[in-house]
Amino acid sequence: MTLTKNIEEVVLFDVHEIRKDFPILSREVNDKPLIYFDNGATTQKPRQVIDAIVKYYTMQNANIHRGVHRMSQDATDEYENARITVQKHIGAKHENEIIFTRGTTDSINLVATAFGKKYVNVGDEIIVSEMEHHSNILPWQQLCEEKNAVLKVIPITDSGELRMDEYKKLLSEKTKLIAITHVSNTLGTVNPVKEMIAIAHSKSIPVLVDGAQSIPHLKVDVQDLDADFYCFSGHKVYAPTGVGILYGKEEWLKKLPNYQVGGGTIKTVSFNKSEYAESPLRFEAGTPNIEGAIGLAVALDYINALGLKNIAAYEDELLEYATEKLSALDNLQIIGTAKEKASVISFVVEGIHPLDIGILLDAQGVAIRTGHHCTQPIMAHYQIQGTIRASFSFYNTKEEIDIFANAIVKSIKRINQK
Ligand code: PMP
Repeated sequence: MTLTKNIEEVVLFDVHEIRKDFPILSREVNDKPLIYFDNGATTQKPRQVIDAIVKYYTMQNANIHRGVHRMSQDATDEYENARITVQKHIGAKHENEIIFTRGTTDSINLVATAFGKKYVNVGDEIIVSEMEHHSNILPWQQLCEEKNAVLKVIPITDSGELRMDEYKKLLSEKTKLIAITHVSNTLGTVNPVKEMIAIAHSKSIPVLVDGAQSIPHLKVDVQDLDADFYCFSGHKVYAPTGVGILYGKEEWLKKLPNYQVGGGTIKTVSFNKSEYAESPLRFEAGTPNIEGAIGLAVALDYINALGLKNIAAYEDELLEYATEKLSALDNLQIIGTAKEKASVISFVVEGIHPLDIGILLDAQGVAIRTGHHCTQPIMAHYQIQGTIRASFSFYNTKEEIDIFANAIVKSIKRINQK
């Protein structure tokens, strides 16, 4: 990884140097150089993260929080240091506000279960939006079914923005929690979560932010947002799968009842009564994904070395370039044209099923996503079956976007020839 300074003293990175850190980017797919535009689904891992995992299993593997032996203590230190790296990265006040989970879905389920158990009753309301990922709908829907509570939905506009007027109308004394995505994985919309949280807090309603798609693209400061809960997945931010984060304000974590219990969550156990540890250990039952946590810290260090401002500026440039290129293509319609967007473009081509384009793009070495992207309510809003989605990372290039645009044209021609 190298950083170079241009004349305006803005640190910019050299994308071709950065690509060397990601071994997978030099492979071929279907005899074509890989163009990986499925970063919204998962990101590729830099050598630094891969090396950290190899080092962990080669030299350090031991269970944590339990052993007196040296390797166990070292593994515990690395795991707990990873927690501090995450704390600093998202601007949390205390390290005990950082809970390691399996990912965003697991984090949301934790809150829905624990918060729901204590705070949601018959007739209460939970608010989500029409643009949520299924992982930020189903745990709440299930909770509402169990408790005879009501799930309320903030509608979106046709450009893919939240209807803030409707949001304000939905809030009432019955509202127990608002669960909202920071960035839509399908539309790319960046939601005004800070403003939404301020509005919710003026009525003493807590807010959970699904940060799965904001953490790779934006500088997130949970204290500045004033989020009560913020969730994300390691694998979407250049770290391994199977590890994620639940940030919760200390005051909330203290009040939440247990989620899963077991080894690691206790102070003492007896058959009469067991005493539980404080957060975060109270919420981390069983042996965690130790190498995942270590890999996550390395990944966060990696993106911080690149600079989150640089990443955002470069990805914005890619988004703008791709939007221009795709807008110029006949019969292609971009789905999601919000003013504030992260580097995600969804589109449909008139008369052609997204899957057909996806298969032909794959044959040309381009990996994109097709389908509903786990956001079926968005598909219902636009009355479409699915979209083709390209999601860009800082290791992608404008040259790749050129090839991608040409590959779309070729694919459309081929389908129309049949
Ligand atoms: N929320 C959003 C906005 C997402 O994009 C995703 C992943 N596509 C999830 C939640 C779920 O993440 P995970 O599968 O890593 O738990």
